[in-house]
Amino acid sequence: MPSIHLKTNIPGPRSQALAARRSEAVPRGVSQLTPVFVARSEGAVIEDVDGNRYLDFAGGIGCLNAGHRAPGVVAALHAQADRFLHTCFMVTPYESYVALAEKLNALAPGRSPKKTLLLNSGAEAVENAIKIARAYTRRPAVICFEDAFHGRTLLTLALTSKTHPYKAGFEPFPGDIYRVPYGQPAEQLEDAFQRVVAAESVAALIAEPVQGEGGFIVPPAGWLAAVHEVCRKHGILLIADEVQTGFARTGKMFAIEHEGIEPDLMVTAKSLGGGLPLGAVTGKAEIMDHTGPGALGGTFGGNPMACVAALAAIQAIEECQLCERAVQLGDQFRQRAQAWQRRFPAIRDVRGLGAMQAFELAEAQSTKSLTKYCYEHGLILVTAGTYGNVVRILMPLVVTDDQMSEAFAIMESALEAA
Ligand code: PLP
Repeated sequence: MPSIHLKTNIPGPRSQALAARRSEAVPRGVSQLTPVFVARSEGAVIEDVDGNRYLDFAGGIGCLNAGHRAPGVVAALHAQADRFLHTCFMVTPYESYVALAEKLNALAPGRSPKKTLLLNSGAEAVENAIKIARAYTRRPAVICFEDAFHGRTLLTLALTSKTHPYKAGFEPFPGDIYRVPYGQPAEQLEDAFQRVVAAESVAALIAEPVQGEGGFIVPPAGWLAAVHEVCRKHGILLIADEVQTGFARTGKMFAIEHEGIEPDLMVTAKSLGGGLPLGAVTGKAEIMDHTGPGALGGTFGGNPMACVAALAAIQAIEECQLCERAVQLGDQFRQRAQAWQRRFPAIRDVRGLGAMQAFELAEAQSTKSLTKYCYEHGLILVTAGTYGNVVRILMPLVVTDDQMSEAFAIMESALEAA
């Protein structure tokens, strides 16, 4: 395979031809962050259709904590493909759905008995968490945060904060959603109950323990625990959205473990499926069981291929000790990025938790040029932030130290070239 450091003809002729077909066949609304098309992948590396090789520090936007084609995941998928592909769990159930629910119930923080519902995506899981919270509390309202991201369906867009490109033009959104500042003293919520929405009307508060798309914003330690206390006082359910933070990314299986609290409901997706589409709501059994048969579900939710992939991905995360590895990777990045911050005034901030790390630049244009330079030199990175000015890393946690060094060298030369 060609070495990563050389600037080659990117996009190559095959990618260019596919891009032309793509623009004829796929709407513009689906963005394309790099102009290359994938041929194969492994671990933390992607090869494109022209034979160029990239370190993948986007990981399918945080979906590949266990790595591209983790060996256990691939083996489980082959074995499942030889047995059955789909029956619909609601019609003729199968063991892997139950086994995955048991596993997530055991992993979820807190001692209360848990139950798990499986779905197809993060957004669908968030929608279901809201349905369950409303049914249980018999209250309508939901509190969410500035700079939050919870998905692109209409209800989750109402919870998502960023207007462009996500929300503009898609109004009206479902009502009874109230947005408050993130990471501010929890007492301000009491004020919101006077000025914004009555506490007794609120079913749930939904929070990312670390904001992902919003720009890797880490709230002050103890903040979410204090918010949880306010919620408990008023009978409001706390929904932890662990879609991006989950499965070892922040150095714990779930980021909320850093706060030592038990959310009422927890939403997971992305790295849950080990590369397959899967979402889950895991919550206190009493809350999860409140709705009657038929009220929850979906044709493909908890598809057998996705379930066996998830079980194998979780096993890999545990066996490879990826929580510990995430802490090491995060430390490596922080040290390096803080040194860059001293050298390059364009870097305004370095922040993150575990391997969920980012640096913020002064403006969005600089992050675009930086990520372009990086993929042209063999490193795929994605940006984040309400203002698009944050460069984040979401590499598979199976990345090697040598691959980390290569990625740092490319980022550093991108900063020098800027
Ligand atoms: N919640 C969070 C915190 C996310 O980061 C995302 C996606 O980026 C979602 C929900 C939506 O997940 P999906 O894209 O699988 O619908």
